[in-house]
Amino acid sequence: MGSNDTRDRLAEIQAGTHAVIDLDRYASNLKTVAELAGPNRSVMAVVKANAYGHGAPACARAAVDAGCRYLGVARIDEALELRGSGITAPILVIGPPNMAEIGLAIENDIALTVATETSAAQVIDQAESRNRRAIVHVKIDTGLHRYGALPDLAVAIAGRIDSHPATMLEGLYTHFSSADEEELEPTVEQIERFQATYTRIRERGIDPQLVHIANSAATITGLFPDTNMVRAGIVSYGLDPSNEITAPAGFRQILTLKTVITRRFTLEAGESVSYNRTYTASEDESAAAVPIGYADGIERHLSNTGWLMHADGRCPIIGRVCMDQSVISAPASAHEGDPVTVISDGSDGAMTVAVVGEICGTNTYEPVTRIAARVPRLYLRNGAPVSWSVPILGESGTFRST
Ligand SMILES: *Cc1c(COP(=O)(O)O)cnc(C)c1O
Repeated sequence: MGSNDTRDRLAEIQAGTHAVIDLDRYASNLKTVAELAGPNRSVMAVVKANAYGHGAPACARAAVDAGCRYLGVARIDEALELRGSGITAPILVIGPPNMAEIGLAIENDIALTVATETSAAQVIDQAESRNRRAIVHVKIDTGLHRYGALPDLAVAIAGRIDSHPATMLEGLYTHFSSADEEELEPTVEQIERFQATYTRIRERGIDPQLVHIANSAATITGLFPDTNMVRAGIVSYGLDPSNEITAPAGFRQILTLKTVITRRFTLEAGESVSYNRTYTASEDESAAAVPIGYADGIERHLSNTGWLMHADGRCPIIGRVCMDQSVISAPASAHEGDPVTVISDGSDGAMTVAVVGEICGTNTYEPVTRIAARVPRLYLRNGAPVSWSVPILGESGTFRST
């Protein structure tokens, strides 16, 4: 798209708020996941929620290129987005399927999670009426008590899916509630319940090809006995699952969030800034406005607590973060048009995703998944931009190599 238009996408994107995603780091993180998983386990790259905000099509393609066996998404629509962008790799919807979209999923070779009798019946029905074979993973509820089938029902559904000609039982899995805690007991208990149910299913002569229980945290702690795939989300983006279970050495944050100074001014002593005047200058100070706010994914909690990074120094956020803009204290040397970093891996002194999570009283997942559709994404290979997407315009493209 756009290869012969005259617009300079790189310049347009870099002149405003944008995210930069390092695909080499992503690939390298996924290879480290594969090493942790060991030689007999494949990796499902979890790219739900727009690849945790990083951009699903670009990340999914990079994950497949890095050797991932499977892609995981939460919704059928997310899987359709990937199919629409030309990705033919296996995709599993790890969330409950939208009952009205099951037929669409089957037509597009999207594997579905089944954990209720209603969804089993619907999958069979939709596959039969299309004369196609639906790919199914049965999810066992071993203690998270969200979407999953309790053991007896899981055994029954697995039998029904396996024996029906319109369905193929490809996988069996469960999801942990507490793998990101130091306390292993709840996870061990879930593994035992899973193994007992898996044994019952095998005793019926059913042996699903893919068996998977580990998320990032369990992959890090190595809690994945008798399985042949791990599902890695957060750690593949170089982020810690929690403060207790952190990404081992070698993983690196792949996201940088940047903006630019739109106005540089002097805030006079006694003058205040932004809505509700929560910050007042005690002496004349250099300030700047930036076009990023909570509608871009920068939490309002960062008002008067977070900071941005200019080449000449740290810029505390002063006053309230607004919907579309914020105000920062800026070095006197700062100019309109200067780039400023909002979030980075910390190497330049900016807030990391973990620091943002800490300030906002949340985990590492929320700050990245909140990055809005109006924030353009730039993708790097070998440190240089190779492709871009502007989600709200539904546009993406690659830069011609020179
Ligand atoms: C989101 C999700 C994952 C990935 O979890 P991370 O902690 O990000 O690795 C794995 N499995 C299921 C079922 C999920 O919903």
